[in-house]
Amino acid sequence: MTSESTETVSGVALTRAFHDRFGVGPDGLWRAPGRVNLIGEHTDYNEGLVLPFAIDRATTVAVRLRTDRTVRLASAFGAADPVEFDLDTFNPDSATGWSAYPAGVAWELRQAGVSLPGFDLYVSSDVPVGAGLSSSAALECAVALALSDLCGAGLAHAQLAEVGRRAENNVVGAPTGIMDQYASMLGAADSAVFVDCRDGSSRHIPLDLNNAGLVCLVIDTKVSHAHADGGYASRRNSCVRAAANLGVKALRDLTVIDLPRAERTLDEEAFRRVRHIVTENQRVVRTAELLVSEGPYAIGEILNASHHSMRDDFEISCPELDLAVEAARANGALGSRMTGGGFGGSAIAFVPATDAEKVGYSVETAFAARGYQRPDVFAVLPSDGAKQQS
Ligand code: ADP
Ligand code: MG
Repeated sequence: MTSESTETVSGVALTRAFHDRFGVGPDGLWRAPGRVNLIGEHTDYNEGLVLPFAIDRATTVAVRLRTDRTVRLASAFGAADPVEFDLDTFNPDSATGWSAYPAGVAWELRQAGVSLPGFDLYVSSDVPVGAGLSSSAALECAVALALSDLCGAGLAHAQLAEVGRRAENNVVGAPTGIMDQYASMLGAADSAVFVDCRDGSSRHIPLDLNNAGLVCLVIDTKVSHAHADGGYASRRNSCVRAAANLGVKALRDLTVIDLPRAERTLDEEAFRRVRHIVTENQRVVRTAELLVSEGPYAIGEILNASHHSMRDDFEISCPELDLAVEAARANGALGSRMTGGGFGGSAIAFVPATDAEKVGYSVETAFAARGYQRPDVFAVLPSDGAKQQS
């Protein structure tokens, strides 16, 4: 089955689900993809560089505007109970659970000046939740585009990405950067999205895996990651403190030439955090250059170097992610790294198409031998960003 027909079938099912819940049909369907970060981890909130791509797994929302101020939210996702609230009495500080994502988007659209009526919304998704592929940004971006289109707000995709990020930061309470929403809003088929997170500029970099005979495998370790607490926030705080100690606005302002001074000024752990960010920004630039000049076969070693930096300097990997990366490489991957915020979630591996099955099988075998939970291994393709589904 082609992806086109899969989309159509799920669109019919989603329209029916919306009708069954709300008793009328939706005004339309909007879809936004999850993402894989190719390289550039934890660099976004340091005003640095990232190179993610939107994947061929997406969240679709069916939406109908109402004539009153009521919002009703429902999702096919098992853990998501239906929610109803009044737009005018909504309190962003008390939003909890899954509805904080769509409700947060509605709130932030209103903060941005969009005049919003009540609405009914039903969510369906094939982005795995909590696997580091940003089901959260996929949900935010699908909702943001749907409501903006239906209200005739005319916001650009980059502005809608900002709305999604603000919803996640201010209403959900997760201190994430802009990368995920940019990838989901601005992705394009056979391309990665190079984003300068300081000025918000972005451009597409060619990433035609099919043509190169390569497959990007995602290895979902099933180890849950939780951005809202613990590690992610503590890394972010270390970066902010280190930048202040070094007298720069953000770690983005440092290059490898500054590392000896950073080593003299900071304690050993803070220095390693800084070294990861500085060298990771450099790797993002080099990866983009190599993709343009030589193609995706050339970036394996940089992916590996990025993983080592995250494992040893930034310390955001975990045994399952390290095993996934090692097993993939030992069985034919050109390069492999954890992707996303870390402490669980997924790794990616670039593999010649002829070896993809062997690599997947070997990773599963290695997990079984260690007594780890069976990982989910599947291929993803660089795909288009958020759009209305016809
Ligand atoms: P990730 O973005 O890596 O998948 P997060 O923890 O950032 O993980 O976001 C996952 C949360 O987003 C879920 O716990 C849920 O609250 C919300 N979410 C994502 N997809 C859906 C969906 N299809 N339906 C309802 N809620 C969803
Ligand atoms: Mg997320």
